[in-house]
Amino acid sequence: MIATEVKTRFAEIQEKVLTGQRLTKDDGLVLFDPRTPLAEVGRLANLVRERLHGNVAYYNINTHLNPTNVCVYRCRFCAFRADLRDPKGYAMSDEQILARGREAVDNGCTEMHIVGGLHHKKPYEWYRGILSQLSEAYPTIHLKAWTPVEINWFEFLTKKSTREILEDLREAGLGSLPGGGAEIFHPEIRDQICEHKANAHQWLEVHRTAHQLGLRSNCTMLYGHLENAYHRIDHLMRLRDLQDETGGFQTFIPLAFHPDNTKLDHITKPSGLVDLRVLAVSRLMLDNVQHVKAYWIMLGIETAQLALSYGADDIDGTVRHELIYHDAGATTPEMLSVQRIRELIVEAGRDPVERDTLYHRIERDPHDLTKWSIK
Ligand code: SF4
Repeated sequence: MIATEVKTRFAEIQEKVLTGQRLTKDDGLVLFDPRTPLAEVGRLANLVRERLHGNVAYYNINTHLNPTNVCVYRCRFCAFRADLRDPKGYAMSDEQILARGREAVDNGCTEMHIVGGLHHKKPYEWYRGILSQLSEAYPTIHLKAWTPVEINWFEFLTKKSTREILEDLREAGLGSLPGGGAEIFHPEIRDQICEHKANAHQWLEVHRTAHQLGLRSNCTMLYGHLENAYHRIDHLMRLRDLQDETGGFQTFIPLAFHPDNTKLDHITKPSGLVDLRVLAVSRLMLDNVQHVKAYWIMLGIETAQLALSYGADDIDGTVRHELIYHDAGATTPEMLSVQRIRELIVEAGRDPVERDTLYHRIERDPHDLTKWSIK
């Protein structure tokens, strides 16, 4: 396509967005074309974002728990995993896990995000037990746990179906599913970066089943490694199709690849401009997903603030104990205070609103963070 054609096509896309029409795969490719001015794409995405959420930007008070980094897989983009006998490998004890729950409650967290490695020696009951212990001891914390990669592993360990596993985990305290493990669905890329773990079909099937059971979930895309615009659009289309069917995704989170300490460390991490374009295009293509999140841990604080004008309406949370992206070279702080996260949102010209995992608004005593309720 020559430059003038790109311009004409963008005018058509603009008209579609203004009149609320759905964008096609080809439209998505035009939006990813660097000759389509980023500022224009961002302006369109912002329009959609403000149609949906006005001036609000959401955040939550949350913590991460990565119970083990020992993993049977060797995804090429992963800096977090360790081999069974690797000195950096760990698996948390019940006491350590419960102590994290106590810490979360004491800090006013409404959510614990739980993901990790697939430990060679740990049985399914160990993973289930993490949820049951935490939910019994700290019932106010929402447990957003285990990606389809883990659910798939549990199926392998137990020989049970996806539905049986999800029902069992829900009984143990599972509140919703995080969006990780999606990476890039297209096999041309997936087979090069994580050939052994759950494939696109399996990933989507776990979320489909979760949605059928009434569980909500998030979805992600890892970008900035080997993929191109075609693979990104293919990925977004597969998510949009499932969302048309089930409506169970709450939030889409584009995840920027961080190369340090990975097998892909020859790749330069995506620039801020790429980050903003991916966010904006995602907002425009995923017309049936309510929220788009600028995950500040990965994007950096400044880009996350800017992203609130490029399609994002959520900046994630205060976040404690994030390991996965810090192992891969993320230079963001390990956590942000509530006051700081609110200041960052205000500085970006938005109105901060605290939410819980399911986007209920939270009312909180500013002098005692442990006192909160759903509005
Ligand atoms: S991304 Fe997850 S499944 Fe892949 S190696 Fe890392 S911990 Fe294991």
